[in-house]
Amino acid sequence: MRTDTLELLAPAPGLSAWLTVHRFGKPDAGPKAFIQAALHADEVPALLVAHHLRPLLQAAEAEGRLRGEVLLVPAANPPGLGQQLLGQHHGRFQLADGVNFNRFVPDLTDAVAAAVAGSLGDDAGANAAAVRRALAEAAAALRATEPAADLKRRLLQLAADADIVLDLHCDSEAVMHLYALTPQADMAAELGALLGAQAVLLATESGDSPFDEACSATWLKLAQRVAPRPLPLGCFAVTVELRGQADTGHAQAAADAAALMAFLARRGVVDAAPGALPAARCQPTPLAGSEPLEAPHAGVVVFHRAPGDRLEVGEHVADVVCPLSGQVTPVHTGTAGVLYARMATRWAAPGAPLAKVAGATATRSGKLLSA
Ligand SMILES: [Zn+2]
Repeated sequence: MRTDTLELLAPAPGLSAWLTVHRFGKPDAGPKAFIQAALHADEVPALLVAHHLRPLLQAAEAEGRLRGEVLLVPAANPPGLGQQLLGQHHGRFQLADGVNFNRFVPDLTDAVAAAVAGSLGDDAGANAAAVRRALAEAAAALRATEPAADLKRRLLQLAADADIVLDLHCDSEAVMHLYALTPQADMAAELGALLGAQAVLLATESGDSPFDEACSATWLKLAQRVAPRPLPLGCFAVTVELRGQADTGHAQAAADAAALMAFLARRGVVDAAPGALPAARCQPTPLAGSEPLEAPHAGVVVFHRAPGDRLEVGEHVADVVCPLSGQVTPVHTGTAGVLYARMATRWAAPGAPLAKVAGATATRSGKLLSA
């Protein structure tokens, strides 16, 4: 394991921030996997899984079982880790301006399309290699003048030419669930089975360029741009939601890390017997079929259903209780599916997202992710 520290844009004179990157295996020897933890910095289960993953990768490297290269960023957002406000940690948004750390990651499609224009042929493998080089060069050329953009640029520079990107997050209170590209449903289902995911949510574009799509959807858009020249989908990127923010048990994190290693083995990054694939706990469903349940007014939230519950249409999920009027408003599902996440706090502002249900039928369009 070699460890690099990459200096980030300094928040102020006299202060410094940096990214730590652990590198395992050899570049260009085989598939490259990029794994980062807690891009939204307050996702501590992801930090713990990365902690348990490191010794597994070190052992694989020491035993000569790494066919490719693995980059592990054990804490993807150090500036966000330091964001305390009145005794509370805030990691999702940059406090200075409210920017979501996992949106508006640079889209390299135009730069790469221009770089490879006229140079691709009929060999899909050669085209993929040319695009991978161009992705690395386009990412290397990115510049940024403010901290959140600088962080996204640095992370994308590490991930842009990867074959596999595992972006480790968590939700408020949740069961294990994944977000991935629709054409990569099979690989997402495989990872979901290994991790015991209870929802696998698919989209070709969820809106506002989250990190996983900045890595994977770029290939999809480039394939359309360079057609009829063949270009495979050269990157599988997935957002892994490691349950809820309070889910930090060692045994569970160790099992999650082992499942990620098993996935790397199945993808040819680690030399190990793949073993049997556990039975899937869910089938992939469209992200556009996920129903966000919202608070109809401000009040105390009383949940009747928990993450992992399978719900029918019209089920009573929660009450919102106004302490002044005494109004108790029940919140029902409009769709059938698994309740895969719910809010961790029990006071709702008007319109607050209470819970999410993974429905099987696409009903929404436009921006599909929460703010
Ligand atoms: Zn997140």
